[in-house]
Amino acid sequence: MTDDSIGAFRDELIDSGLVIDAGVEGLYGRTLAYEEIVSGIIALTTRTGAGDGAMAVHFPPLIPRWLLERTDYLKSFPDLTGSVHTFGGDDKRHARLLALVDGGHDWVEVLEPAEVVLRPAACHPVYPLCTGGPLPTQGRRFEVQGWCFRHEPSADPARMLCFRMHEFVYVGDPDGAGAHSELWLKRGAEMFESMGLDVDVVVANDPFFGRAGKFLAANQLDDALKLEFVSPVSSTETRTAIGSVNRHQDHFGLTFGIESADGEVAHSACFAVGVDRTALALLKRHGLDPGRWPAEVRARLWP
Ligand SMILES: [Zn+2]
Repeated sequence: MTDDSIGAFRDELIDSGLVIDAGVEGLYGRTLAYEEIVSGIIALTTRTGAGDGAMAVHFPPLIPRWLLERTDYLKSFPDLTGSVHTFGGDDKRHARLLALVDGGHDWVEVLEPAEVVLRPAACHPVYPLCTGGPLPTQGRRFEVQGWCFRHEPSADPARMLCFRMHEFVYVGDPDGAGAHSELWLKRGAEMFESMGLDVDVVVANDPFFGRAGKFLAANQLDDALKLEFVSPVSSTETRTAIGSVNRHQDHFGLTFGIESADGEVAHSACFAVGVDRTALALLKRHGLDPGRWPAEVRARLWP
């Protein structure tokens, strides 16, 4: 895969009027034609998990700063983090801010961190909802979706700064978490294939940060904690993850103090669809005009 082919796909997407260059690398606007693909993927994902009794919840693309600290995201992916800053100064400091802006200088030093950060994964806000006593015997299930942020600016349209994730999360006992993972490995593969996508399942190899990250990456590989659905997205030669099954074991249970029905530390697992990446995979596979996609794919997305 060359950067040329990745850049070529980005140019095709923009020229076709599906997405809009929003001013910095990795940031895109979307037109209605693109958003109709997104709506179809979200609706199909919801239908695939309907009947499991998951509580459907939506959260803003911001999470409390304390939540980011407790998920260990800063340990694993500090380089992907997005933090919100705001102005809290007086008139004098305001004058300094304006002078810096006018002079074309770096003005961020005048700002202070707000109590919120950008959400890196859709499921993070659901774990604090599971505290305050043992979970029911059947555990708890959530369907959660929305905008996420990861700072990895790139010419590759599959690496958007802001993108949608749609997840089905289970929190409960180890057997329930295992069953949730197995079920969604099968369901996820069937769902992606029903859209005509060519999908493989592979053990994930996430880009954990720094020296400690090498250890975390080795664990992830050895224990197959995260499995990814990979498909051609920006290039036909290389596959990109468009979804994943994540076995957290007792990580969130310990971090947030969640108890299973029998009073043990809760286990959790989630199935996540990268909604925007799936949209791009469909455009790569079936062409840039959704009106001309195969009838069976259109029927799956827009029944
Ligand atoms: Zn998740």
